[in-house]
Amino acid sequence: MASVDIRRNDTVKVISGRDSGKEGRVLRVFPAKAKVLVEHVGMVKKNVKPNPQKQIKGGIAEQEAAISISNVLLVCGTCGPVRLRHEQRGEKKVRVCAKCGNTLDKDK
Ligand SMILES: [Zn+2]
Repeated sequence: MASVDIRRNDTVKVISGRDSGKEGRVLRVFPAKAKVLVEHVGMVKKNVKPNPQKQIKGGIAEQEAAISISNVLLVCGTCGPVRLRHEQRGEKKVRVCAKCGNTLDKDK
């Protein structure tokens, strides 16, 4: 299985599909399904049943649906959406922008 390079809280850009061109923050990653949940991307309408005990009114709510990881690119703060590569930095393997070489890992 290919390693999943997208992590929670990454900023990604959608490169294909209905939301192509949108950018958002990764809310969840599903490595087994090779899917990601991205904030405000892949919105689907969902019928919500009223539940008075939880004070839910019911109606139609919008919610993110997971999209394929292959449809998103990680966004480098300097270059924009990029492919990434891995580099060994001391003990750690980090994700690096293929263009500028900056690390894309926020927890350094
Ligand atoms: Zn870069």
